[in-house]
Amino acid sequence: MKKKAMISKCMLGFPCRYDGKSKPLEKEKLDKLKKEYELIPFCPEAFALPTPRPAARFIGDRIIDINGVDKTDAFLKGAKEALRICKEEGIKIFIGKEKSPSCGIKKTSAYINGCECKCDAFGLTSKILKENGLKLISEWEI
Ligand code: SF4
Repeated sequence: MKKKAMISKCMLGFPCRYDGKSKPLEKEKLDKLKKEYELIPFCPEAFALPTPRPAARFIGDRIIDINGVDKTDAFLKGAKEALRICKEEGIKIFIGKEKSPSCGIKKTSAYINGCECKCDAFGLTSKILKENGLKLISEWEI
């Protein structure tokens, strides 16, 4: 039986990104994943927020959208739902989209010293899943 893995939904071609688009994985990568895992797609941001939505990034430990609105609570709601699903379904692996303030594993979006940048840190969902014992796999490691 294949292991279950939660995966950032936009990487399977669902248009759930902030801009209403998707970021599908290359076919070879997707085929490789499908051979090994039963993929459970989830988008923590679309769970708690409309799509499209203003882009958001970390400012310190808060997540603020480009209009200056604090979206931390909504991001946390999505992250907690991801964790709830993983616990309920016995999912021990999360495969995340990089540079996202939710799903990033090696890089996340941040606003530092007046610059929009990608910094070496977890997105909020990835961080919470890791803290709860899930193994994280970056899209760059597939
Ligand atoms: Fe993709 Fe995650 Fe962003 Fe949703 S929150 S669009 S799944 S990277």
